[in-house]
Amino acid sequence: MDRRRFLQGATLASGLALSGSGLAKAAASTGKASGAGKVPRVCSTWDFGVAANQAAWKVLSTGGRALDAVEQGARVPEADLRNHSVGRAGYPDRDGKVTLDASIMDEHGNCGAVAAMEHIAHPISVARRVMERTPHVLLVGDGATQFAIEQGFPREELLTPESDKAWHEWLKTAKYKPVANSEVKTYNAGPGGTPGDASNHDTIGMLAIDAHGNLSGACTTSGMAWKMHGRVGDSPIIGAGLYVDNDIGGATSTGVGEEVIRNVGSFLVVELMRQGRSPEDACREAVERILRRKPEAKGVQVGFLAMDKKGNVGAWSIQKGFSYAICDADRQDTLLPGKSTY
Ligand code: ASP
Repeated sequence: MDRRRFLQGATLASGLALSGSGLAKAAASTGKASGAGKVPRVCSTWDFGVAANQAAWKVLSTGGRALDAVEQGARVPEADLRNHSVGRAGYPDRDGKVTLDASIMDEHGNCGAVAAMEHIAHPISVARRVMERTPHVLLVGDGATQFAIEQGFPREELLTPESDKAWHEWLKTAKYKPVANSEVKTYNAGPGGTPGDASNHDTIGMLAIDAHGNLSGACTTSGMAWKMHGRVGDSPIIGAGLYVDNDIGGATSTGVGEEVIRNVGSFLVVELMRQGRSPEDACREAVERILRRKPEAKGVQVGFLAMDKKGNVGAWSIQKGFSYAICDADRQDTLLPGKSTY
């Protein structure tokens, strides 16, 4: 499933049939698709964020809580068998195991996360249970799976025949190389490993503000395809892949998680907004902090998405090709190209 077909699926569901860049242009031309503040609102990383936002919008548009909105939204790509970077059908690690990372954070500063969890299809909902039903923030590996089963989540095989085939293809060369998401048309075109041919990692990060003005966020991924078994990315690390401060705003990230963790990226974006930066400016400064500290990071992709307390949304990435979806009362299918340093 390439990125264009994936996107068409999302837009067809909402009654439109536009290609990737066409959708962004069409949305921008309405004058209602900018990130300018609006409440309630939800935003998400990447084009699969369009469908996720629509599920979240069902909650927000009926006066529901931002936390419920982001959980419901994140479950959409987690369940989507065409999506090889989130949830079920995510590409496995180099040992053929699908291991999932997710985190969630509410308006009170409560947070929960799971990392390197196997056999449970909806890690975002397990992360929420960690937040609400344990005294802890993060459960990992077998412990996370055990907790999920105790909570009534079914134990399942998450490796689909398609992902298994892609893994066997990768095993022929077994090169581990994250591919920057620099070309819209190359999204998930194959098992990865060849720059420009395929993307082998992506994440859905979602931020929502509800009608009461409360913020929440969610972040879920299968991480880097063909990663070392046990590798954990930024997505389940509070402050790295996700951070929400109900007084200021929220931020989430996608891309090579190691670079985000090293710079505590999402926390940084929120702190920059606290100092008065706009969401876009804060995301840009966080990207440029990564690049200043490690110039060779320009060879990989990292993208940040942020929303402030007024519902203003902004994004920035290292390389071109990052996109984000916004959904509010004006439009439910807006997909915008993110700005980038390179
Ligand atoms: N941030 C994710 C990770 O490092 C992957 C991605 O978003 O592309 O696991």
